[in-house]
Amino acid sequence: MGSATKRRIVLMGATGSIGTSCQSVVRTHRDSMEFAALTAHSRWQELARACEEFHPRTAVLTGLSPQDIPGNAFPSTVQVLFGEEALAEQAASPDNDFVLSSIVGAAGLTGTWAALEAGKTVGLANKETLVVAGPLVMRLAAERGARLIPVDSEHSAIFQALQCGRDKEVERLILTASGGPFRNRSLSELAEVTPADALAHPTWAMGPKITIDSATLMNKALELIEARWLFQQPAEKLQVVVHPQSIVHSMVEFVDGSILAQLSPPDMRLPVQYALTWPERQAGACPRLDLTQSIGLTFDPPDLERFPALNLGFEVARQGGTAGAVLNAANEVAVSRFLQGELSFLDIARLNRSILSAHDYEADPSLSVVLRLDRWAREEAHHWTSLKSHSQPCVSRTC
Ligand code: NAD
Ligand code: MG
Repeated sequence: MGSATKRRIVLMGATGSIGTSCQSVVRTHRDSMEFAALTAHSRWQELARACEEFHPRTAVLTGLSPQDIPGNAFPSTVQVLFGEEALAEQAASPDNDFVLSSIVGAAGLTGTWAALEAGKTVGLANKETLVVAGPLVMRLAAERGARLIPVDSEHSAIFQALQCGRDKEVERLILTASGGPFRNRSLSELAEVTPADALAHPTWAMGPKITIDSATLMNKALELIEARWLFQQPAEKLQVVVHPQSIVHSMVEFVDGSILAQLSPPDMRLPVQYALTWPERQAGACPRLDLTQSIGLTFDPPDLERFPALNLGFEVARQGGTAGAVLNAANEVAVSRFLQGELSFLDIARLNRSILSAHDYEADPSLSVVLRLDRWAREEAHHWTSLKSHSQPCVSRTC
């Protein structure tokens, strides 16, 4: 296949866990895919290495300025740009026909928004985009004829299963959760969990933020909200089951009682590749299940008392409006303060609940209201953390 027919990809978050999975997919499919642009926040050495291998036209560093890197750090054929505006320009550029949104956190919204506004096909790993602004993002995509293809493994599985039925035939979306490393720990044991314990996930190797979210089950909460908007299904049709083997990536139950699932070993290269090749499937580098060996698959209901974060996900999926932006922002701060040793593991869900309850809810906010509440929730979350380390936490509209 000639270069003119290659899929030209902008990889936002190229140095992360999903970013390196995407590099691996493109390495396997060099005949049909190439990078138009690679972006990272501050890890310029890793970005430069990826540029040496893939020769994109452009590299973007959002968290640095030209004086932070040596003049000869990047190959001379690569144009190096700086800042969030440059990232948005690359996402929207006519030079690409696919954007992989794999930045972590609400920071992923800007580039995803720019790509959708330009009518691009976007592979969405950055679930926070839909948690923060789901209805606005879905409306934008529809207006601009842009397409969102899920990369989150659960949503990729649901996306695939949904192709076997019609929207009106869907009874339930069933998201599987590994249950994280602390699935069997008691509440008193959970109170003692350290950042190092929580960073060791049993089945998935991921970036630090999503690894902590997986341990608290906030990740599943965020995924419920993501599914709510991506598949336009009400919260009542969403269910979570704990499936520690992480082989069934999620399921769809249809009105006749049939449940369709997607199975594979846990490896994010598969959903990344599927998003890039959809509606086709191609052979790739991913491992396969060997069903000549015995494999035990188990499914259990989640324990909402030990993992209260999940309730937050159901509540916010029901509420919509500004609730997602506030929950997400509070959680981003809670996770970083936990990783710095300033909050306990159980404080993460407490802080999230507290900030969510204290916010001025709006049912149909504009993007600027959503972004204002994101900033508000971050300030409140920092405040909650400092009060917590001195005395009892307090959150109100005035404190
Ligand atoms: P990561 O921490 O490994 O990588 C994050 C990437 O985003 C890096 O390239 C970093 O340079 C970039 N980045 C960080 N902050 C930024 C900012 N402020 N502005 C611009 N770029 C910034 O994260 P990850 O585990 O790859 O996760 C990325 C996204 O994919 C998250 O939204 C996560 O929830 C989602 N996701 C990840 C996995 C996984 O297996 N890792 C699975 C499903 C979904
Ligand atoms: Mg997931």
